[in-house]
Amino acid sequence: MEVEDRLADRVLSSPGDGCSGWGGKRNAEGYPVLLVEGVFRRADELAWELAFEPVVPGMYLIHQCGNRECVRVEHLNLAEEPERLPRPPRRRPDMAGAANPRARLTGAQAEELRRRYAAGEGTQEALGREFGITKSAVCRIVAGQRYRGDLG
Ligand SMILES: [Zn+2]
Repeated sequence: MEVEDRLADRVLSSPGDGCSGWGGKRNAEGYPVLLVEGVFRRADELAWELAFEPVVPGMYLIHQCGNRECVRVEHLNLAEEPERLPRPPRRRPDMAGAANPRARLTGAQAEELRRRYAAGEGTQEALGREFGITKSAVCRIVAGQRYRGDLG
């Protein structure tokens, strides 16, 4: 079976422009991996390679969506430094999308958060609790450093 097909077999795609999860193995860091010719390769890198080009040495694939299991190439990008994402929580099969407390906000939610913070409807801490994200994430969102652009 071709690598492309084996990869596609394990991708758990979600509707719209949501993250594509991974139904295969993960490495110690929680990244999706696929066994290719006896070696575990990062599935997100394989997806990138099949869609665009191999990730050359010295370049790193980063998850713009903040979800290291995501293999959706639209959510990936190349960078000169490895990404530093927080370790994912221990995986529970029923945690997906909005049900995951660590899920990132949709563009509409981010917009709502910004609006409510601007209206003085809560501190960054309180709004963060309500939206299930950290205070520093709230800080970045209200400062407009996130969700501006193509991922919202
Ligand atoms: Zn994603």
